[in-house]
Amino acid sequence: MLEDRLSKIRRKLEAGERLSAADGEFLYHPDVSLHEVGELADLVRRRKNGNRVFYNLNAHLNPTNVCLYRCALCAYSRDPDDPQAFVMNIDDILGAGREAVEAGCTELHIVSGVHPEKSPDWYFDVLGQLHTAFPRLHLKACTAIEIAWFAQVTKRTIRSTIEDLIRAGVGSLPGGGAEIFAPEIRTQICPRKADGRTWLGVHRAAHQLGLRTNATMLFGHIEHAEHRIDHLVELRLQQDVTGGFQAFVPLVFHPENTRMAHLEPASADLTLRTVAISRLMLDNFEHVKAYWVSLGVGLAQTALSYGADDLDGTVRRERIHRAAGSEVPETLSEAEMRYLITETGHEPQERDSLYRPVKRQGAHWTLA
Ligand code: SF4
Repeated sequence: MLEDRLSKIRRKLEAGERLSAADGEFLYHPDVSLHEVGELADLVRRRKNGNRVFYNLNAHLNPTNVCLYRCALCAYSRDPDDPQAFVMNIDDILGAGREAVEAGCTELHIVSGVHPEKSPDWYFDVLGQLHTAFPRLHLKACTAIEIAWFAQVTKRTIRSTIEDLIRAGVGSLPGGGAEIFAPEIRTQICPRKADGRTWLGVHRAAHQLGLRTNATMLFGHIEHAEHRIDHLVELRLQQDVTGGFQAFVPLVFHPENTRMAHLEPASADLTLRTVAISRLMLDNFEHVKAYWVSLGVGLAQTALSYGADDLDGTVRRERIHRAAGSEVPETLSEAEMRYLITETGHEPQERDSLYRPVKRQGAHWTLA
């Protein structure tokens, strides 16, 4: 019975047909072999991206950890009066941009908490100054949660807020803040911030304005297979309409230092199965990332054979997963990224933020 169902799914995939939500939930069944799910995902991944695995040279910048939402899932945020709260000054922010450029990075990934005492103009000014100082550095900045808050406090539309971000120099949006769309889960893990509909609305508006964006899903906490599949189906539906998502990034929940610290960390089976099922369900996404900071280096390497085709970046100065107990190295060099990819039998391909191939000599780079 199980075998029949799996054979039907295999035939659908070989014929290029879309999987149903029920198919996706079935693949989470513990009696369905992880190895077989991975093999199917690898088939689809090879059809889309051959043997290539993408990576980029990037740095992270988190200008503040103060956040008014204080989500239960979050180990990073602080109240304004917390001794560990910080707000970077503009000199340090520009210093981080300079360091990224000198290291040859093509991208700065910028996300922050939502600081209740900082006006959106502060965020826009930070972005504008970075873009003016380092015009070649692609700014992948502001989650949908930040953008929804900017629009709320300025009483402007999401669309005009994104237009301002584009004018300030933002080149694409990261995928953070999506967590799990299902309201019954969201109200337990992040009840105060923008809901799933709003997250999707921000990305829809960005796509309509020509910005490419990523999408994430935080899994391995209190959600179940049905919630993960619902999340993937929502993303797939939106991608059918706008086509603006570049990559899907499955993020493993790290419970340490959060208000959900009693939960067990996600197993390797759940992690690899979720990467693989994401690849299978999101037939209209070109890329699925194995974000090594979230998965861990070893599991991210393994995920390259379970449907992922992108290891993400060198990721200098990441603070958010580290706050939740992630013990991965602070950064990976380009040589290490290439080695990790080659070791799995794949062909490394440096890309920019829009998946254009990059040619590089040390810190100097051009588009190929
Ligand atoms: S997850 Fe994001 S929105 Fe929630 S508290 Fe942390 S920084 Fe703020």
